[in-house]
Amino acid sequence: MDSLLLIDRTHAIPEGFSPDLTEINGILLDKTAAQACEEMLTAASDSGIRLKLLSGYRSREYQRGLFRRSVSEYMASDMSYREAAAITARYLAAPAHSEHETGLAADFCTADADDTQEGFGSLPEGKWLAANSHKFGFILRYPRMKEHITGIAYEPWHFRFVGLPHSERMFASGITLEEYLYYYEI
Ligand SMILES: [Zn+2]
Repeated sequence: MDSLLLIDRTHAIPEGFSPDLTEINGILLDKTAAQACEEMLTAASDSGIRLKLLSGYRSREYQRGLFRRSVSEYMASDMSYREAAAITARYLAAPAHSEHETGLAADFCTADADDTQEGFGSLPEGKWLAANSHKFGFILRYPRMKEHITGIAYEPWHFRFVGLPHSERMFASGITLEEYLYYYEI
C-alpha cells in the first residue's frame, strides 16, 4: 500500500480501498505499519518508556458512530447541528476522511491509561514518541501550530505510518504530510 496516502478533510479514502491488516496487541494495523510499531514499542520499552497502543484500524461504520456520537453530545448542550459538526470536525475526522480507516494511523497512551490523554505530549511517553517515532517510519501527524494545514487540532497521541525515509525527512524539516507531498516531488 502507498504509505504516503493523504487522507484529510478534502481527501477521502479511495473507492474500493481495502487495507492489508494484521493484529498487534489486540489492535488491527496495516501489516507494514504493525511491524514498525512493534519495533517502536520494543525500543520504547528498552528505554523504560511504557506505551500502550490504544487504537489502530477503524471501520467506516465505527468512524461514523464516533462522529455521530460526538455531534449529538454537543447538540445536547444546546448547539445547532452545524456548530456541533464543526466543533467535532476539529478533533475527529468525518467518515471516509479518517486515517484510522487506512490502518496506517495509531493512537497511543501510557500503559496505565485506557483513553487518549490531553496532556500526553508533556508526559515522558508522549515526548519519547514525538522525538523517536520518525526512526520507525511514524510521524506526529497533527502537530501544534499546524491546524491551518492539517485541519485537525494538536493530537499528541496520534501517529501516522509513512515509512522511511519519508518520516526522517518530515521530522528533520518539521513539516506535515500535506507540506511534504506539496514541496517534494515523490
Ligand atoms: Zn488517532
